[in-house]
Amino acid sequence: MKIYLDGQFVDEADAKISVFDHGLLYGDGIFEGIRLYQGNVFRLDEHLERLWCSAKAIMLTIPLSRAAMAEAVCETCRRNGLRDGYIRLVVTRGVGDLGLSPWLCPKPSVFIIADTIALYPPEYYTSGLSIVTVPTRRLGAAALPPMVKSLNYLNNILAKIEARQAGALEAIMLNDAGFVAECTGDNVFIVYKGRLLTPSAQQGALRGITRESIFAIARALSLPLEEHELTRYDLWNADECFLTGTGAEVIPVVKLDGREIGDGKPGPVTSRVLAEFRQRVLTEGTRI
Ligand code: PMP
Repeated sequence: MKIYLDGQFVDEADAKISVFDHGLLYGDGIFEGIRLYQGNVFRLDEHLERLWCSAKAIMLTIPLSRAAMAEAVCETCRRNGLRDGYIRLVVTRGVGDLGLSPWLCPKPSVFIIADTIALYPPEYYTSGLSIVTVPTRRLGAAALPPMVKSLNYLNNILAKIEARQAGALEAIMLNDAGFVAECTGDNVFIVYKGRLLTPSAQQGALRGITRESIFAIARALSLPLEEHELTRYDLWNADECFLTGTGAEVIPVVKLDGREIGDGKPGPVTSRVLAEFRQRVLTEGTRI
């Protein structure tokens, strides 16, 4: 496997980052997870836009133009002979001293890994997930804006551990006010009386690229969609529920906190959205 690392393509064994890199010491950096479908980098421009917004929020200067970054992503796929896969694009603060100060890190590092991924076993796409709400709350925007896709994922990891302890593969995370924010690595949608509802970024949701694609799909299928405050009660009493994410794509949820959602089976709206999504991943984006 060839890894892009600061302008070079290096072997996996040589793709190394310093122990003084603040990405490692403090989780000081940002990333994107991107999918490649039959030679199409799905919504690459949108991923790069989010990366640049994350960089601005943490005052990190990405040492490449957006066009050069797009080319580096595509070239990493080409060099690895990939047509389908998962791309991890990371920008770290770079090497500094042992203090926090980012201004003592003169050169951010950029690396790109293109590999394969399978997040959920395929049977869950037909039978649906059973998930739980966990005690760990999603960080508030006044602490660390959840819109920033930072290398600091401990908040989500604690929630993921709690999910596993409860025997679930994903978890609903609430915000400080007790409203549904998102999952540990996915956004959440419900279908209620013909409408699609999802928490807004202000409620603590990452502006997921898959989530935004669902907005476009809803418009195309004339399904009313609203960003809405949601409680656990709303999820328990929804007609359908599904999660979205680059790794997960669109996956139905059929049980939350021991309560069956709807009739306990993946619903028709989820199936329509998933089918439309699977079409779009082949055409929306950038050919490598
Ligand atoms: N929320 C969180 C916390 C995430 O890490 C992710 C990405 N895995 C998502 C939502 C989904 O975003 P996207 O559709 O851009 O992958």
